[in-house]
Amino acid sequence: MNEFDLRRICDPESIRSLGSPWVVGGWKCATNGFVAMRVPTTEADSEGDYLPIAKLFAAHTFDDCTTPWPTLPCDAECSACYGTGKQPRECSRCLGMGCKSCSERGKRVYSKSPPCPVCLGAGRTPDQQCIGGELFVGNLLALISGVPGCRYSSDIVDNILTFVGDHGLQGLAKGKYRETQ
Ligand SMILES: [Zn+2]
Ligand SMILES: [Zn+2]
Repeated sequence: MNEFDLRRICDPESIRSLGSPWVVGGWKCATNGFVAMRVPTTEADSEGDYLPIAKLFAAHTFDDCTTPWPTLPCDAECSACYGTGKQPRECSRCLGMGCKSCSERGKRVYSKSPPCPVCLGAGRTPDQQCIGGELFVGNLLALISGVPGCRYSSDIVDNILTFVGDHGLQGLAKGKYRETQ
């Protein structure tokens, strides 16, 4: 099964995310606040709270996602793991406040840390670049590059990139800058 692992975009320590994907209305969903993805599923709705992203998806059309996602060279350090290839955790010394041990980041990579979910352990991502006239950060580009069969719409509305992938996946990603009018 060649399917995008939605857990890759779940950051258990982010308040903009749920720690794991959830199911609502026949969709398995995940988001980290900057990118949201969902795939059709026959699983029952999740118990408890979930983020109401159905409205977000309803506001976009995915019919025009026909442009194949380009192969992007990974020539930048992965900012999610500081190029280490391992998933950082809250620094146990300063509990996220920032200290010398964590280079004031508040997060550290530990020797037993699992592979970074963004770069899958490579430590490298694409550099930030424009897709459809909108600038996207390397982290988002790395995650979208991992979507099998990815196609996107070059017609970007309100700085949101829409894309689709195999298994009926739909995705939204936020550009770096919002045009002010
Ligand atoms: Zn620290
Ligand atoms: Zn990484």
